[in-house]
Amino acid sequence: MKTMAERDALTGIYNRANFLKETRLLIDRHPETVYVLIRININRFRLYNAFFGLEKGNALLRTMGNLLAHLSRTEAYTYGRMESDIFCLCEPCDKKRVREHIEGLQQSIDNISPNYCIELSFGAYIIDERDIDVEMMYARAATAERKIAENPANHFSLYDQSMSDQIYQQQLIMNDMQAAIDREEFIVYVQPKYNLIDGLPFGGEALVRWDHPGKGLISPGQFIPVFEQNGFIAKLDRYMWEKVCQMLHKWIEQGHDPAPISVNMSRVSLNNPHLVDVFNDLVTKYNVPPELMHLELTESAYMDNPVLMKQTIWELHEAGFVILMDDFGSGYSSLNTLKDINVDILKIDMKFLPTGEDDTRSEKILASVIRMAGWLGMPVVVEGVETTDQIQFLQGVGCGYVQGYYFAKPMPETDYEQLIKESGKSNPLTGFSNEELEEINGVWSATPQVEAILRGISIPLAMVEYTQGDYQIIRVNKAFHQEFPSKASEGIMGESFGHNLPQESVCQLNAAFADAVCKKGTSECEYSRGDTGTPKWYHAKIQYLQSLMDASLLCVVINDISNEKILEKGLRQIQNTVLKDLNHRKRMLIVDDTAVGRKILTSFFAEDYEIVEAENGSIALEWLKKEKGDVDIILLDMMMPVMKGDVFLDHKNADPELADIPVVMISSEQDSKIQTEMLQKGVSDYITKPFVAEVTKRRVDHVIEYNSRFQGMVREYKKLKQQLEEH
Ligand code: C2E
Ligand code: CA
Ligand code: CA
Repeated sequence: MKTMAERDALTGIYNRANFLKETRLLIDRHPETVYVLIRININRFRLYNAFFGLEKGNALLRTMGNLLAHLSRTEAYTYGRMESDIFCLCEPCDKKRVREHIEGLQQSIDNISPNYCIELSFGAYIIDERDIDVEMMYARAATAERKIAENPANHFSLYDQSMSDQIYQQQLIMNDMQAAIDREEFIVYVQPKYNLIDGLPFGGEALVRWDHPGKGLISPGQFIPVFEQNGFIAKLDRYMWEKVCQMLHKWIEQGHDPAPISVNMSRVSLNNPHLVDVFNDLVTKYNVPPELMHLELTESAYMDNPVLMKQTIWELHEAGFVILMDDFGSGYSSLNTLKDINVDILKIDMKFLPTGEDDTRSEKILASVIRMAGWLGMPVVVEGVETTDQIQFLQGVGCGYVQGYYFAKPMPETDYEQLIKESGKSNPLTGFSNEELEEINGVWSATPQVEAILRGISIPLAMVEYTQGDYQIIRVNKAFHQEFPSKASEGIMGESFGHNLPQESVCQLNAAFADAVCKKGTSECEYSRGDTGTPKWYHAKIQYLQSLMDASLLCVVINDISNEKILEKGLRQIQNTVLKDLNHRKRMLIVDDTAVGRKILTSFFAEDYEIVEAENGSIALEWLKKEKGDVDIILLDMMMPVMKGDVFLDHKNADPELADIPVVMISSEQDSKIQTEMLQKGVSDYITKPFVAEVTKRRVDHVIEYNSRFQGMVREYKKLKQQLEEH
């Protein structure tokens, strides 16, 4: 019965120590069986974690554990989890069976995420030397597995004798390491960092070299990986930190004002629960200000255990140390995580930038990281800089510090001292002044309050970085993300003001951004997103916040104005109708039995109206019906033979085609009773005989104007309402 202590807490299978122990027993118990030891590595597991989250990552590891546990029911075999994403299996060396197992494992893993290709790589060692340490067998399988990286099409590699040289070398290293520490064979090299603005050195990074009595100077690439595997790295780290403290102490004693030196911190050291004490003891012992010790920890070590790391970083900060994130961009975190990581300085290695065809994209990413770090007040050191081209590019995007062969290779302590003496030293690594930071942090930083405000704002809001005709969204709130959904996997790089924006809209936005930057104030614009069926319209209000070099930070608030646009369009139609009404030559029907009356009225209106005359209501009605009511106004005498005015009115009002035509009644001064009656029947106004030109014209004009505008608006209003309802 296995106890929990023997097992890996996450997967429930053997941990490293017990796998090694049990495998030894297995091999010894079956002297007749030839075994194979297979090291299984989940490729790009970190990336998987980053895409799908720790939870899913852990589930994947548990699945692996499960699959291994159910490989075979008949054969005796061992399996275990060696470290994070590395498993190991030792089973009888039956070619066919092994192949089936390997293919089966890959297939089962394929089924987990059909859209994300999880590849396993297998390094195998056929145990032909049964007496060596299982540790050594495992190392051979690991050596074989490392060969896969040289040819990515392969997923399986078998250890062969030629690889053993390497193992042998590693063994030699292991044999010598403790003595090397005791004899102080490890020496500190310093690679200076340079300020890109004045080209002067400022501080450096301590890098270990092994001055081996027999082999000469060995570079860390040859022994650090071995030490990392066997845990010896913790001792070496501690040794290097002490050496650096001694160095700083010496410089201070000599009366110099040294710039900070950064030291490397391996994964293993980071997991030391007494890490902070170790550093505190060292700086106390050598009386070195802690801010002169810059601690480089790698991004991947951070991501192994972010919660613990946050706590450790907090304590180290409290104690006054400065934290650098080493190898940022080596594939784990996206731009988004930058704001969550509480480190002081970012180190980006040129070699982690994807190169190849899409160079502009990687340059863009690097530029973004540098500027985003700038917004966070975080200095950036770019390392591995070798060429003038790289330097020019980095100067262009506002990178502050570089470290690389372009300026200097790692050098012995004395050479570094000489270099500083000759060139003088530059300014400290800073981002913004405290005042500037406060101002920026007010709107930008990831403080809980600002986060809460951003979350609380229910209209879409984005932070935009604008640089000479180009913009990039660097932060959005939830409402924005809902309005313009992007793929989660793309992170902030995928955010946009609407996918496939028409060129015109991009121009509108760019122009408005430029305007806000130019005024250092606000601007606005409207733009449409034509990617869906019905075009959507947005209003963007832009507030300028800050500038850094040639980039500016803008806050953009978006309003959906699609409905307003429809209304606006409707209103324009209404206006057009009204204008048309006013402009077209109007028709007037004059119904009067006296020729003189008709003549006088005609003389008043002939200039503005096409006039039709009728002697009585009956003729008028007949004509109106024939014309389908195409007349703008009727002047109607009340007292007429054949058909009187009021009877005509009744007929007219009963016909829907004629009912809307406005009527001005012709009456005599005294007929106040009739006037009232007729007004109630829908007559719009009246004119009295004898006609006074000015009064008559005015009254008719008013009626016309009122009626046409009103009619037009009613019609358009109805149309509009229908449109909106359909929408
Ligand atoms: P690192 O911490 O990323 O250190 C930077 C490495 O890049 C150094 O290699 C440095 O010499 C090299 N480098 C600097 N500029 C350039 C350049 O322009 N081009 C190229 N191609 N390389 C450049 P080095 O000294 O061989 O160290 C390799 C790695 O070994 C380090 O990578 C670090 O991870 C580890 N290491 C070195 N010293 C220590 C140490 O004292 N403790 C721990 N834990 N790790 C160390
Ligand atoms: Ca480093
Ligand atoms: Ca590095």
